[in-house]
Amino acid sequence: MIEYCIEKNIENYISILRHKKNPKFFSAELEKLLEEAKEILSSCELCERKCKIDRNKTKGFCRAPNKIMISSEFLHYGEESFLVPSHTIFFMGCNFHCVYCQNWAISNWIEEGIEISPRELAIIIRNRFREGAKNVNFVGGEPTPYLPFILEILKNLRELKINIPIVWNSNFYMSRKAMEILNEVVDLFLPDFKYGNNSCARSLSKVEKYFEVVTRNLKLAKGDLCIRHLILPNHIGCCSHKIIKWIARNLKERCIVNIMDQYYPTFESYNYEEINRRITTEEYDKVVELANRLNICILK
Ligand code: SF4
Repeated sequence: MIEYCIEKNIENYISILRHKKNPKFFSAELEKLLEEAKEILSSCELCERKCKIDRNKTKGFCRAPNKIMISSEFLHYGEESFLVPSHTIFFMGCNFHCVYCQNWAISNWIEEGIEISPRELAIIIRNRFREGAKNVNFVGGEPTPYLPFILEILKNLRELKINIPIVWNSNFYMSRKAMEILNEVVDLFLPDFKYGNNSCARSLSKVEKYFEVVTRNLKLAKGDLCIRHLILPNHIGCCSHKIIKWIARNLKERCIVNIMDQYYPTFESYNYEEINRRITTEEYDKVVELANRLNICILK
C-alpha cells in the first residue's frame, strides 16, 4: 500500500517536472489575479497576521517592502530528490519569528537583501531553466508577502514562453484570499507543517491560530502536495504525532510527507532548553513508525 502510494505520487510529480502537464500559470488569468493581489496589498492581508497596513506606504510585521528583495538564487541540489535541480529563490523577510530559524539572517533582515525587478528575475529564471532547472522554487524567509510581485514575474515568464513548473515553499500561513490566488498558479505546494497545537507555535514562532490556519490551507491546496515536517526535540507527542495523525485523517490519499531529521539549535534556540539539542534516533523512529502504521506516504 505504502509503496504503491509513493510510486503513484512520485510518478505524478515526475510527470509535472517533465512537462507532461503544462504549468498552471500558463493558462491562469494573471492580469485579474494581479489586480486582486494588489488590492490585498493596499491593506495587507496576504497572510493571517492581517497587518492591514498599506504596503505601498509602509511595512508590516514581515518588513517586506513594495518591491522584490531577495537574498540569493541558485540551482539547489539539496531539495527533495524529485525536485532537483531546483531553481530556488530566497525572498527577504518572514511573517513568523521562529526562534530556531535556520535562515535567520534572511528572515530577520540581518542581510540587506538585493533589489531586483520582476523582469530581471524572470530572465534569471529563464537562464536557470536553460541550465537544467526542473522547476522554480519560491522560498524565503517566506514568499507570501511578495505574492503580487511574484505574479508579475509569472507574467514575464509567460511572455518569455518559459514553461517551468512553480513550487511554493512556504510556512503555509497565507490568508484564504492569498491561497485562492496561489491555487490558480502553483503546481506543487511544499508546505512546512511545524506544530500540532497553537501553544508550541506561539512559544517558538510567535504566531497565533497556527493549527487552524495551516490545516485550513492544507485542505484548500489544489496543487500537488509534499508536506515537510521538521522534527523538533521534545516535541514528539505535542507536535509530530498530532501532525501525522491529522495528515492520516485528512490528506493521506493526496500528499507525500518528508519527515526531516536535520534540526540543529541556532539563532535564539539556545534560550529554549527543550530545543537546545539535536533530535535523537529514538525520536525520529517514533515519528516514522507512526507514519508507517497509519499508511502515510513518506519520502525515504
Ligand atoms: S504579509 Fe507581511 S505585512 Fe502582510 S499581513 Fe503578513 S506580515 Fe503583515
